[in-house]
Amino acid sequence: MIRKIAVPRGTSDILPDTVLLWEELESKARKVCQSYGYREIRTPIYEATALFKRSLGSTSDIINKQLLELKTSGEDSYTLRPEGTASVVRSYIENSLDSREGLSKLFYIGPMFRGERPQKGRLRQFHQIGVEAIGPNSTSPYLDAEAIALSIHLLREFGVKGHHLKINSLGSKDDKAHISSWLREKLASRVNDLCKECHSRYEHNVFRVLDCKNESCRRLVDALVKDLPLSGTSQTYFQQVQGALKGAGIDFEIAPHLVRGLDYYTHTVFEITTDGLGSQDAVGAGGRYSGLMHELGGNEKIDYGAIGFALGIERILLATSAVPPMVGQGAGVDAFVVAMDEAYQPQAFLLVQQLRGVGLSADMNYTGGSIKSQMNKANKANARFAVILGEEEMKTKTVSVKNMQTSTQEQIPWGQVVERLK
Ligand code: ATP
Ligand code: MG
Repeated sequence: MIRKIAVPRGTSDILPDTVLLWEELESKARKVCQSYGYREIRTPIYEATALFKRSLGSTSDIINKQLLELKTSGEDSYTLRPEGTASVVRSYIENSLDSREGLSKLFYIGPMFRGERPQKGRLRQFHQIGVEAIGPNSTSPYLDAEAIALSIHLLREFGVKGHHLKINSLGSKDDKAHISSWLREKLASRVNDLCKECHSRYEHNVFRVLDCKNESCRRLVDALVKDLPLSGTSQTYFQQVQGALKGAGIDFEIAPHLVRGLDYYTHTVFEITTDGLGSQDAVGAGGRYSGLMHELGGNEKIDYGAIGFALGIERILLATSAVPPMVGQGAGVDAFVVAMDEAYQPQAFLLVQQLRGVGLSADMNYTGGSIKSQMNKANKANARFAVILGEEEMKTKTVSVKNMQTSTQEQIPWGQVVERLK
């Protein structure tokens, strides 16, 4: 027997009934994002590997463990995108969007790829809805608040209940450098009490020690997080973000442990979790990443501001436990043409093409069978009208049009049927 080839581990097929759910979610996402002034951008699903290496930082989990590099014959190295921000920033810079518009508000919907150990809510190909607001001199606490408000608005629109928003501030780039050395100093005598991974974090990205789940790291860190030396300016900025959120009636919790996995964040970072998703409970996360703009070659003379977030579609669907509509309850067709004999199929085919040509949806029976089984097909197709081509109709160059709801029937000449059905 021939061995079947299965879908790759950590990926899945989205079958037609479920696609209806996705389409609904995507169209809600587009509508809400547009109502906040964001416009869609579509970038390639793979990019130069260097783009991700440079933007995500050498200490991030994605760079260390999760990049899916493409095998190519040439020397250039390409990688399937693990997230959307790097690509959007690359495109923003490459297409000089900064000289075309003051503030670019962009959103994307699409697949992302990470070489993770697959489990519930953790896939190798998954999908994100993400937004980025980027512009020269576009650092405003109200943009941070807007991004957060938009993410919550989307989740509400999707019907995700029981979600929790956690926010934190990492401070400016200078603050981050200052906090890093402060943390190293404070932890210096306790390094041996840190877990193995935090040993290396201590060296390379001490911030990440703050969100370690390990008990003994937690204890050490808990004593420190309250006193992180954030500058006055950064504190004021963070307070303005909080004020804007409160004003908009958005509940949040300040989470001093939240640092996010990627090196590029500064100032506001946030994460949204939901109940009932087990250990993969984050449905979305984001933050301010203004510094990344220069990292990827943005104009040195411009002081860019940038903030964004991404929501995971699979986890959202798990959280809403959305059920696809039952088979056969799809949109249905306007007309189903039934050829009673295979010899009548050329005429049936001509008719469906004419109907489709004027914008109606139409289908036909491609195989023969009894009148009963043919009418069954019309029923299954959820047709509004069955258009019957029998011996009598062929002789008189007519069709019998049956209204499937009222069961009334009428005989109509071939030349008039398209106009009448329309
Ligand atoms: P996690 O902590 O669960 O690994 P993350 O910090 O790696 O998440 P982000 O890079 O911030 O996640 O991506 C934003 C969102 O994308 C996540 O909150 C999640 O909903 C979704 N997501 C990330 N990785 C996966 C994955 N492997 N499978 C499914 N969804 C994912
Ligand atoms: Mg992850």
